[in-house]
Amino acid sequence: MSMNEPQANTIPHRGLMLVLSSPSGAGKSTLSRRLLQNDPLFAMSVSATTRSKRPNEVEGEDYYFITPDTFEAWVQEGEFLEHATVFGNRYGTPRTPVENMLREGRDVLFDIDWQGAQQLAQQAKDDLVRVFILPPSRAELERRLKERAQDPADVVARRMAEANNEISRWSEYDYVIVNDDIKRAHGKLEAIIGAERLKRQRQTGLIDFVRDLTGQS
Ligand code: 5GP
Repeated sequence: MSMNEPQANTIPHRGLMLVLSSPSGAGKSTLSRRLLQNDPLFAMSVSATTRSKRPNEVEGEDYYFITPDTFEAWVQEGEFLEHATVFGNRYGTPRTPVENMLREGRDVLFDIDWQGAQQLAQQAKDDLVRVFILPPSRAELERRLKERAQDPADVVARRMAEANNEISRWSEYDYVIVNDDIKRAHGKLEAIIGAERLKRQRQTGLIDFVRDLTGQS
């Protein structure tokens, strides 16, 4: 095969915007990490937030930690693709890095809540794939929240209430994965991504490919 002949698996495609949402404790961070490690086409959208940095978090990797004033200035300047208040703190997706990554042909992963997913759906419906992650049971969710936070019981109770609120949004998503086993959940996510990449509208190079195939070029 000559260098100029297009191959089906290298047909230029339009980047996906993959939103992963879940209540905390459903395993979303682990799943995101696995996806980024295993799929070189994916890049993560790093959000900005006004919440304080947790000890294990890294500036510019987990979030850009900014002041409320800076956040508001970015809102006014239209710097955010979407933004929302979650549990009293502001969170937003900086626009420019996402646009650059998509232009470079990368797929972009967003760890944002239902409010962000709704806003992206208004702006970029055709590029968006929304996946909701559910924990396998209420008991398991409670166990994970307790184990993770080592919080006093009242904080865990509050987090369970917040989880209920987030879970109630499940029907606004394109796909739902029950995360009973991280390896299986990852396999399901890969299957979703694989099928979405094969959608005709996303394979932007198909017109040229088929023209060539039918001898019309
Ligand atoms: P945490 O403070 O635990 O890192 O995140 C709290 C919630 O905020 C999570 O549900 C997370 O998905 C959501 N979140 C993080 N970044 C953004 C963002 O840029 N936009 C929106 N809408 N939600 C976000």
